[in-house]
Amino acid sequence: MPREVVIVGAGIVGLACAHHLLAEGWRVRLVERGGVAEGASFGNAGALAFTDVLPLASPGILRKAPRWMLDPLGPLALPPAYLPHIAPWLLRFWRASLPDRHRHATEVQSGLMRLAAQAMEAMVESAGLAERLRRNGNLELYESEAEFAASAPGWAAREREGIAFEHVRGARLAELQPGLSPRFVAGTFTPNWMSVDDPHRFALALHADVTARGAALTRGEVRDIAPQGEGVRLTLADGTALTCDACVLAAGAWSRGLARRLGDRVPLDTERGYNTTLPPGAFDLRRQLTFGGHGFVVTPLSTGIRVGGAVEFGGLHRPPNFARADAMLRKAAAFLPGLRTDGGRQWMGFRPSLPDSLPVIGPSRASPRVIYAFGHGHLGLTQSAGTGRIVADLLAGRRPEVAAALRAGRFG
Ligand SMILES: Cc1cc2nc3c(=O)[nH]c(=O)nc-3n(C[C@H](O)[C@H](O)[C@H](O)COP(=O)(O)OP(=O)(O)OC[C@H]3O[C@@H](n4cnc5c(N)ncnc54)[C@H](O)[C@@H]3O)c2cc1C
Repeated sequence: MPREVVIVGAGIVGLACAHHLLAEGWRVRLVERGGVAEGASFGNAGALAFTDVLPLASPGILRKAPRWMLDPLGPLALPPAYLPHIAPWLLRFWRASLPDRHRHATEVQSGLMRLAAQAMEAMVESAGLAERLRRNGNLELYESEAEFAASAPGWAAREREGIAFEHVRGARLAELQPGLSPRFVAGTFTPNWMSVDDPHRFALALHADVTARGAALTRGEVRDIAPQGEGVRLTLADGTALTCDACVLAAGAWSRGLARRLGDRVPLDTERGYNTTLPPGAFDLRRQLTFGGHGFVVTPLSTGIRVGGAVEFGGLHRPPNFARADAMLRKAAAFLPGLRTDGGRQWMGFRPSLPDSLPVIGPSRASPRVIYAFGHGHLGLTQSAGTGRIVADLLAGRRPEVAAALRAGRFG
């Protein structure tokens, strides 16, 4: 009789865990309180940013942050009332950006990205999703020679990790993306950066595949997870109890309370992000463009042109402030003259973020049969398949090398 695993959360991370656990012979049940992939996995920028190995917690971000926060609709926002809640997280973020810790986190992130890229290729092949991948790279853009020069240490660090890139100007820049505003003096092209056709469609297709392979879905909100005998018991909001041999907690930004019940204090918070999806054809966009100085990207999807990013602290309950999405759209119109900005759909999502810019993937304190898979911040789609592979390894008793640095216990 195959063993049964319950996965809490049917976002892209839970779905990728389902894919890998089915391949190992587990009976899989997803428990989801909303729709499949309607959390952060719904409206993200769709990037498979395997080359994005530098943790956000970095000296560079700390230098930019004060300037960014002066603009009330800028790339980084922190409502004063949320400051007391987020202060311990910010303190950890600052510590994680110190040179030694930043170097260590870069090595861990690079290892995880190598695994994530391999696992994603294998997953899309096996789930029949290959035609949803776009292998057209990313173009990062600079508005001044000073901004370009300031990016040099980051590119040197990526070079040490074996990341391919090309600095471009003039005709080459215009060839990679015609129609850019002349304010951009240079760019950096990362050819191995990929995107999906649309993150929600990609996740739904993965869900269809795991369902065809036997995964079940229960609608309901998990209120408690606890070890029971040789297995695990989950309690849902309506009082239903589910018992299983193992459990994966993949509830994205909402994972902290359940981890706490399992004895782990994890400093998970959310970096809220905004975007607008314009109708297809709003611009002749050749690939994803990153406006690093402004904290947002523009991505061509099968469902339209998505403009957005930014980080807003503010927790899970404050209403969205879509003026942030409007502000990014106005900037995009200046950067891409001719961009048609009418007819857009706005969205806000909750990135599940840990202060050291690495996810938590590993066993809970309460039981090795409850595995955490949350906290992927800006990179959950990118690292979803890699996370699924690590989770399947851990539940099979294997110890993947990268997992040691991703344990919940690293926060003390
Ligand atoms: C604006 C923006 C742009 C982004 N761009 C990118 C990008 O280009 N590339 C990239 O890799 N990442 C990107 N991200 C990050 C990425 O979207 C997330 O890291 C990723 O979607 C997290 O996936 P998840 O499955 O962990 O969480 P989610 O997708 O949020 O899924 C968690 C699920 O758990 C469910 N749930 C929660 N609590 C319970 C409970 N108690 N019981 C049952 N169900 C529960 C929720 O309903 C939800 O469906 C972006 C994020 C934002 C906001």
